[in-house]
Amino acid sequence: MISVFGSANMDLVAYVAEAPKPGETITGREFRTIPGGKGANQAIAAARAGADVAFLGAVGDDAFGPGLRAALAEAGVDTAGLRVVPGPSGVAHIVVQDGGDNSIIVVPGANGTVTGPAGRDAEVIARSGALLLQLELPMDAVVAAARISRAAVPRAAVPHAAVPRAAVSRAEVILTPAPAAPLPAELLEAVDLIVPNEHEAAALTGRDDPGDALEALLDLVPEAVVTLGVRGALYGSRDGTRLHEPAVPVRAVDTTAAGDTFAGALAVARTEGAAPARALRFASAAAALSVQREGASTSMPHRHEIDRLME
Ligand code: ATP
Repeated sequence: MISVFGSANMDLVAYVAEAPKPGETITGREFRTIPGGKGANQAIAAARAGADVAFLGAVGDDAFGPGLRAALAEAGVDTAGLRVVPGPSGVAHIVVQDGGDNSIIVVPGANGTVTGPAGRDAEVIARSGALLLQLELPMDAVVAAARISRAAVPRAAVPHAAVPRAAVSRAEVILTPAPAAPLPAELLEAVDLIVPNEHEAAALTGRDDPGDALEALLDLVPEAVVTLGVRGALYGSRDGTRLHEPAVPVRAVDTTAAGDTFAGALAVARTEGAAPARALRFASAAAALSVQREGASTSMPHRHEIDRLME
């Protein structure tokens, strides 16, 4: 099982010729309400890619909450850990101009109330094969979730022969450091794999060259993937492995949530025991399928589609 501790936002998208200037009122062409948020997107991507997924997070008691829960549930994600809190759900207010440039205001709402997982949520994380984290929840909560996974490792304390392997394993912590923010040492200590895009990798390391940024990331965590959009993805591990997985050549119509689809699928392949090269290829295939369709969760591929592209 994969657990995702993260954000659920309703994306409120207005399509316009040109974004309004301060004080100006304009008429838009189209409006869409699309369930999103990096956490929910990654959960849906992982579920469609074939994993049992539990989502841990919060929505408000407003009109958007039920729609956010339904989008997760429709993909088969377990929403027992999705709390309803008083006040508004998280929203992303998005203005898309002709030509594709967009401006976004994220108001965290219920996501901003989430605290570190406790009780059943902590047990779900401890039982998972992977824990997916992003940075759209309060940093303290993200750190606490990562540390639960680390605390669940009694490896040194427990003789292997005496305990079944499953009882001493722990969730592998996979962090998408977006939106980019400084990462506290307690978080980095608990992360197994970091998956930034090239801009986030540059912001984290101060290195503009993605290869250099990858090396700098490996000083912080044991494994890293830097996604490069249409140029594919770089992988590195402290064991010396370095890989470049080119993007699958496709006609992209909408790259929204390509990164979330990639991260969700990558987690699925890794929990199934795939070696790094195969896991990268699986994630690239899933992301390439998603960019050929419009929307975020609406564009995420199902397992049989990914498998077919991998053949
Ligand atoms: P987003 O913010 O839109 O979710 P991102 O910036 O986090 O995306 P990218 O690096 O743009 O992530 O893309 C993630 C992965 O998706 C890439 O590593 C690649 O495998 C795949 N991908 C992205 N764009 C394309 C494309 N045009 N064609 C094929 N694959 C793509």
